[in-house]
Amino acid sequence: MIKLTIDNRSVEVPAGTSVWQAAKSVGIEIPTMCYLEGTEHFTSCMICLVKDAKNGRFFASCSTPAFEGQSIITSDEETIESRKAALELLLSEHVGDCEAPCQLVCPAHMNIPLMNRLIAKGDFAKALEVVKRDIALPSILGRICPAPCEAGCRRKQVDEAVSICLLKRYVGDEDLKSENPYQPQLAEFSGKKVAIIGAGPAGLAAAYYLQIKGHQAVIFEKNSKAGGELLQIDQEILPSEVVEQEVAQIVATGVQIRLNETINDNRFAELQSEFDAVVVANGTIPEESSAFGLKVTKAGIIANKSSYQTSIPKVFAVGNTLRASKLAVRSVGQGKEVATVIDNYFKTAEVSGYPERFNSKFGRLAEVEFIQYKKDSETAPRQKADKSGFTREDAIREAKRCMHCDCRNPESCVLRELSDRYQAVQKRFQSDERWNVEKFIHREGIVYEPNKCIKCGICVRLTRQHQEEFGFTFIGRGFDVKVGVPFNESVQRGLEKTAELVAKACPTGALSMFNMEEQI
Ligand code: SF4
Ligand code: SF4
Ligand code: SF4
Repeated sequence: MIKLTIDNRSVEVPAGTSVWQAAKSVGIEIPTMCYLEGTEHFTSCMICLVKDAKNGRFFASCSTPAFEGQSIITSDEETIESRKAALELLLSEHVGDCEAPCQLVCPAHMNIPLMNRLIAKGDFAKALEVVKRDIALPSILGRICPAPCEAGCRRKQVDEAVSICLLKRYVGDEDLKSENPYQPQLAEFSGKKVAIIGAGPAGLAAAYYLQIKGHQAVIFEKNSKAGGELLQIDQEILPSEVVEQEVAQIVATGVQIRLNETINDNRFAELQSEFDAVVVANGTIPEESSAFGLKVTKAGIIANKSSYQTSIPKVFAVGNTLRASKLAVRSVGQGKEVATVIDNYFKTAEVSGYPERFNSKFGRLAEVEFIQYKKDSETAPRQKADKSGFTREDAIREAKRCMHCDCRNPESCVLRELSDRYQAVQKRFQSDERWNVEKFIHREGIVYEPNKCIKCGICVRLTRQHQEEFGFTFIGRGFDVKVGVPFNESVQRGLEKTAELVAKACPTGALSMFNMEEQI
């Protein structure tokens, strides 16, 4: 046995144990991407760097045996910085989008490609479930939204944008017509109550997501009907029955709406003591209004851009009360976000911003890449619709035009998770040129996107271990080395026995299964 110290803790391990394993044996976690227990190992990703406290040198902990008397530091500022730099080097030549461009520009951040995949399969109920994770009012927005997501749609580079807004409207309308409309799963009641001032799009969305998270949402609305600015829209565009039906769905979750209740400054002070949090969502502030004594500018109430917290700690503000906008989807998105912020506040007693995730992005498609993206979609013109919206067939046809620009592995990708954790900056070491996107798609099996590969070699080792006839191997030398199937054989031939195994073990989205239902 040998003795060493790791982060000032004494550790005793058999000779030959790696520093990484020695740390693990006492519960110290060192991240890694290229290490897979049960396979032979070689170092490539350099994420497991640690520091020798005696000489200040960094080394890869996964492949270095521990020795007697060693003193190791695993998490000081310099070590963290060196891991971050290792990640940024990997990201500098990484060509992938964690999330599709349409999702990134949607103010409510809806998972559009996943909705499209489900519609294309005819699974409208699940598609609606996906929409409602981010958009509480899909039938309303499906009629009035100017669709900023479509302006960001990649399909526009190839021919015309996917008709995202009408697709969302279709699944929303199907649900409104259904005998068994979607009922979100509600968390157990937390004992917390939130007052929301205003039953417009922002207030309704905030109430819906707070209720789902287990908090009693009570909306105070000065008018005799809920809907706010939505009620002023031309009936031809947005019939009032649609507003009533979607409001009824929100009320069905347990949200209370108190109509004809005007909140003045005195009542506002009372709400702060009666409720655990207050959300101001009462639209543009009239000039004469005191805005309840909150700090304001000419544009509206001053609130933190990320947490929506105002100058009073447990009062939050969303929607047009912050800044007048014609985009109801922005208000609906803010309603969702403030619900998450308040939920975290109840759980931690601290107000922090809405959590942002790391997103790898590579920008516009080069013309040579159109063909790669079209492999995942159908060639068809954008479907037209009259004022009653899409038919079932049109919706399916239109959804099949989506090129699925998102990554197939955004939730379990270790590269993304660590980039999040270490706040890695993708552009730090990036050059102006990038590799072109390549996609090898086998619709009944695996998808391989070589330019998302970090050359960790896990697939190479696994296919060798499982005696694939061809398997995966390193092809080429130096900077140009790639991972692929030898002798120009297809990816399916390389992974005849191990497709699912390598897709699961790949630490990025380079290898994934075509079927992505597990995200639902
Ligand atoms: S492989 Fe990971 S980091 Fe790359 S695009 Fe996919 S999820 Fe993002
Ligand atoms: S093609 Fe599909 S995934 Fe890509 S941007 Fe358009 S809607 Fe989004
Ligand atoms: S494709 Fe293979 S070498 Fe590349 S990241 Fe995935 S497992 Fe590692």
